[in-house]
Amino acid sequence: MSDFDLIVVGGGSGGLAGAFRAAAHGARVALLEPGELGGTCVNVGCVPKKAMWLAAELSQHITLAGELGFDTPAPKLDWREFIVHRQRYIAGIHTSYRKRLDENGIVWMPCRGRLIDRHTVESEDGTRLTAQHILIATGGRPRRPAVPGAEHGLVSDDFFNFCEAPPRVAIVGAGYVAVELAGVLQALGSQVELFVRGQRLLDSFEPDLTAELLEDTKQHGIHARFGYSLAGVESTADNGVALINTAQVRSERFDCLIFATGRSATTAGLGLELAGVELDLSGYIQVDDYQNTTAPGIYAVGDVTDRPALTPVAIAAARRLMDRVFGGKPEAKLDYSDIATVVFSHPPIGKIGLTEQEARDRYGNAVAVYRTRFRPMLHALADSPQRSLFKLVCVGPEERVVGLHLLGEGADEILQGFAVAMKKGITLSDLHDTVAIHPTSAEEVVLMR
Ligand code: NDP
Repeated sequence: MSDFDLIVVGGGSGGLAGAFRAAAHGARVALLEPGELGGTCVNVGCVPKKAMWLAAELSQHITLAGELGFDTPAPKLDWREFIVHRQRYIAGIHTSYRKRLDENGIVWMPCRGRLIDRHTVESEDGTRLTAQHILIATGGRPRRPAVPGAEHGLVSDDFFNFCEAPPRVAIVGAGYVAVELAGVLQALGSQVELFVRGQRLLDSFEPDLTAELLEDTKQHGIHARFGYSLAGVESTADNGVALINTAQVRSERFDCLIFATGRSATTAGLGLELAGVELDLSGYIQVDDYQNTTAPGIYAVGDVTDRPALTPVAIAAARRLMDRVFGGKPEAKLDYSDIATVVFSHPPIGKIGLTEQEARDRYGNAVAVYRTRFRPMLHALADSPQRSLFKLVCVGPEERVVGLHLLGEGADEILQGFAVAMKKGITLSDLHDTVAIHPTSAEEVVLMR
């Protein structure tokens, strides 16, 4: 007889969702999490980032308001005051998680755990717990490039300790984190420079939209250097940093450097080898379509696997897994296709499904593309240069929608409903049959032709 039906290692979005769903099915659950509940998303990711993004949006709207006749002085954020609000919001989430763990009878051990064998987890204090099933949901951590002096650079976790905007910030990378932090810092008082090794921002997003986003980024005052090949980092005598490229050219001084160069799975010290849990070549835990690892009875969800590193993905995968293991649904698994995703840039950019190029690679000439570029009303009123750009990718004679790409104000909120529609396999004529809501940005999606 095991101590528990399920032991969850890691109390972030995926681990908590798995624990709650398993308990709802009547399983006896223990959860090991040494840090704050909620993991990256709640503590050093989505939630505090979105709070800072909202502050940045407010700042830009106050400026727009000034241009439209409101008597508003130039916005200046008191970071410390705002952070009090941000952290109070996060504390509320922690409280709610603790309450739900209690209500569901889940045993939370605030310590690290490591596997001893396929059914045993040992906590830091030496306590051994056994269970029929084990879920690993230990997430990931920001990664620094392997260059001399990399230790002088910060990572996204450190951003959440800032109490004011550093005057000059260098950011290495062009992915989600780089674009989001650049936008927030620039709007809230920093002068930001992006150092990008490739030729564009957000290379998994539709290129037309990322080119437009680059223009917006420049309008906001962010500088971007493309084709930059980082060779090292040096600290300067006055507490700053400078970047060195492969031609040994030293950059100007920055007050801080942030590496936004991707994340690595947190697998060290978990005892995976003792239980027969194997990693792939990139260091992620290998899982099949059902979240099974290579060890029977041991599962993994979220950023510790190579699936999209998005909170709702980890949650959805964990819930379906527990429905399968404890809920009498033997075929339950997450369908990873057509997952909507948004980068909280200024304005936000989002996508569902295939880019035009991905669709052409898959369907050749059967692809049809529709796009619209327009000024959202607030920006038109203020005569601001910001444009929205929407793009639809359709396939076949029935023009099934296989890709939807939005850049513009409200894109983050608009996309979710269309994600439902795309799951249902809509066509262009379904969009055209839908009466528009006027005047909105969202109506442009159903008016594209
Ligand atoms: P990403 O994978 O999005 O981007 C990493 C960036 O770093 C790329 O531009 C990459 O360039 C660059 N890079 C990698 N290694 C180096 C190097 N050695 N030197 C220079 N540049 C380098 O990672 P992020 O850290 O931005 O985000 C991690 C994940 O977290 C995201 O993929 C996303 O899934 C999730 N996330 C989601 C958010 C949201 O939903 N809004 C917000 C933040 C994160 P290249 O393209 O050339 O490889």
